[in-house]
Amino acid sequence: MTGHLFNIQRFSLDDGPGIRTVVFLKGCNQVCLWCHNPESLLPAPQVLRKDSLCTRCGRCEEVCPHGAVSHNDAGFLTDHTKCVRCGHCIDLCPSDALMLVGYDKTVEEVVKLVCKDRDFYQRTGGGVTFSGGEPAVQSEFLLQCLEACREQGIQTAIETNGNYPLELTARLSPLLDYVMVDVKHTDDEKHRRFTGVSNRQSLASAQYYLAHNVTDLRVPVIPTFNDTADELQDILRFARESGAKKVTLLPYHTFGISKYTNLSMPYTLGSEPLSVAAVQAIVDTLDAGGLAVEVNER
Ligand code: SF4
Ligand code: SF4
Repeated sequence: MTGHLFNIQRFSLDDGPGIRTVVFLKGCNQVCLWCHNPESLLPAPQVLRKDSLCTRCGRCEEVCPHGAVSHNDAGFLTDHTKCVRCGHCIDLCPSDALMLVGYDKTVEEVVKLVCKDRDFYQRTGGGVTFSGGEPAVQSEFLLQCLEACREQGIQTAIETNGNYPLELTARLSPLLDYVMVDVKHTDDEKHRRFTGVSNRQSLASAQYYLAHNVTDLRVPVIPTFNDTADELQDILRFARESGAKKVTLLPYHTFGISKYTNLSMPYTLGSEPLSVAAVQAIVDTLDAGGLAVEVNER
């Protein structure tokens, strides 16, 4: 079976315990306004234009047989609804400014690559982490990868938004040694406004994982979305009542904004980054009620 990926990162120290290989699957079922991996949102490969290399020569617009490239005062843009990924523009760009993001790999290819660092996993308590996008969007591919990694004795983890039916959560859960699941907001209307979807399935999945897996709840702290003391307190209350022991807060950053330009995608949030100190100052005013609350720079 084949899956759509946009990256495989070896020797990661940020995506679960120990040294890990992170397999980034392409495609997501939410559109979070702050997403710092916009190349993960669409399941299909996309043409990316490195704006810093583009000399505005116009060759890509000339050669595109599908009228997918246009320009305005800010530069050249690719319309991903028209692009058929033929690669002409990539081959003919004189500045090597264009590349295709996204590729296919079979379950066997992924597992073979993951197994290369088995010694590091064993020495550090690490393993493989499936991330995205939302890895569960490619549910059958993910399930097969997890089963195959387990058969090889590799510890497994997932970074997930939990936005899928509980039937799928229950199939994934026994194949996972460690779960990092997002809890973004307890208010459904606000969650819909900033992510495009209801929080109902995400909260239910988080509760399921907490009851069955070693689970870290993760909260991206986003200005104008959930960065008030009341909103964070509500999330901590949900976590505590759901049996969490630990919550990790991830302050908003803007490292991914240039990717939006490079992918000809709009970035609409327009807020200033939040420092760890600023988020910690809010946390210090909250009643954690015995929860370990960590603020991480990511
Ligand atoms: S992406 Fe390449 S071909 Fe297109 S305008 Fe920029 S430099 Fe020219
Ligand atoms: S990959 Fe092909 S269809 Fe897509 S923008 Fe380039 S030339 Fe046009």
